[in-house]
Amino acid sequence: MSLHPVLAALQHHLPAGCVLTDAEDLRPYECDGLSAYRRLPLAVVLPETIEQVRAILVTCTEHRVPVVARGAGTGLSGGALPVENGILLSMARFNRILEIDVPNRIARVQPGVTNLAISMAAEPYGLYYAPDPSSQIACSIGGNVAENAGGVHCLKYGLTTHNIQAIELLTMDGERLSLGGPALDAPGYDLLAVLTGSEGLLGVLTEVTVRLLPRPHTAQVVLAAFASVEAAGAAVTATIASGIVPAGLELLDNPAIRAVARFMDTGYPEDASAILLCELDGETEDVSGQLEQVCNVLRAAGSTSLQVSRSEAERLRFWAGRKAAFPAMGRLSPDYYCMDGTIPRRHLSRVLNEIGRLSGEYGLRICNVFHAGDGNLHPLILYDANQPGELERTEELGGRILELCVAVGGTITGEHGVGMEKLDQMCVQFNPAELEQFHAVKRAFDPHQLLNPGKAVPTLQRCAELGAMHVHHGQLPHPELERF
Ligand SMILES: Cc1cc2nc3c(=O)[nH]c(=O)nc-3n(C[C@H](O)[C@H](O)[C@H](O)COP(=O)(O)OP(=O)(O)OC[C@H]3O[C@@H](n4cnc5c(N)ncnc54)[C@H](O)[C@@H]3O)c2cc1C
Repeated sequence: MSLHPVLAALQHHLPAGCVLTDAEDLRPYECDGLSAYRRLPLAVVLPETIEQVRAILVTCTEHRVPVVARGAGTGLSGGALPVENGILLSMARFNRILEIDVPNRIARVQPGVTNLAISMAAEPYGLYYAPDPSSQIACSIGGNVAENAGGVHCLKYGLTTHNIQAIELLTMDGERLSLGGPALDAPGYDLLAVLTGSEGLLGVLTEVTVRLLPRPHTAQVVLAAFASVEAAGAAVTATIASGIVPAGLELLDNPAIRAVARFMDTGYPEDASAILLCELDGETEDVSGQLEQVCNVLRAAGSTSLQVSRSEAERLRFWAGRKAAFPAMGRLSPDYYCMDGTIPRRHLSRVLNEIGRLSGEYGLRICNVFHAGDGNLHPLILYDANQPGELERTEELGGRILELCVAVGGTITGEHGVGMEKLDQMCVQFNPAELEQFHAVKRAFDPHQLLNPGKAVPTLQRCAELGAMHVHHGQLPHPELERF
């Protein structure tokens, strides 16, 4: 069989070993964290220099071959799923920290550096990078920017978009762009914001400048148990309404608590219907004052027991369970599907109630473990891919949950992106005119539609065929939601 002409050209530009074409070499790249979907690309390329990345993009533009950029492949919405007959561009070899600028509290890093590696490199200077996805040991900062990743501490410190200062990227035709800079404001359109969360559709990131923060002197966690999920949801609203901004405020419901308990010893009360983990950080005196206030709010909201971490080891133990919650699902079910939607906090109790009802309707178990303070839900739907039709039912249930989020004025993603997973729900969230504006932005950066095509923004035709009803924020499209 003759070699595809683009492969011959890529092999010409790249050193030996940087172009993979054998099926067994491609297999590790066939999916991201959304492993229900798998596809082999035409080839995987592993460039080591910016000039090589440029050569790849220019070559693929000449041959009109699509390109999908990939960081660590931990994405949960299929953003890094290869395109058939396309090139998968792994940025894994761009793994150097270029500079830690202590006086200016910034770090310049290559996009393949892991999120956690930045904080580890900044640690000797008493600094760290605040956004902390649970996948931070593995996920790359390039992937974080592309998904506008969040994490446990984003309630207080903001998402990726609030913690980056500049990026460098290459467009599909090889043009090098520098966006952002040292000042807080810049003339012209805020293209840095446009690129953040653009899911690899507009350019390939080659460098990221992140903001670093001084490490808080103290951090303590309150572990509060509740007799119902609704009460825990109401306690979240009460905590934020009290004026305190916790560093993190997370909720685990009873199925999630029990899954974690089977996985590791965390000391979580297994009989609680839900627990909240509320972290406070800052100067020691401020933290102890706030702890007292938070405990009072949680008690008044009906907490049945409260534990406050008294040592760093205990604080880490409380968090360890939360961080292990996703892997712990493996003890309950062969497969799980992690949803990601965001709602206004005041609707937490009622939405959680409705999710419970939908779980019964579909006969599929759901564990809830999520960033409650941000209203960012992560219902984990447990299913068995080997049971015929179960994945399809799971997806339908997931779609219903996302539409519920939109119906109460929320959004279909909080931090995991749209990828290929939530294209149909984009038709619900946005009207055709809005979607057309997104396509216009895409065309401005990538006129031939070669970068990660078919992801993040649905075609108008897809929405028309789906017959999706666009929902204005806060409108209630489904009869069963009308009691909201
Ligand atoms: C167990 C687990 C826990 C998780 N917890 C969280 C969490 O708490 N918060 C959260 O936000 N996410 C979480 N995630 C999801 C995931 O880790 C994030 O979306 C992360 O930002 C993806 O980074 P990555 O390097 O793996 O990117 P990939 O999966 O490789 O790619 C993700 C997207 O970014 C694009 N991309 C990657 N690199 C580049 C680049 N250099 N230039 C342009 N585009 C690029 C890809 O094309 C793709 O669209 C979790 C995932 C897992 C598996």
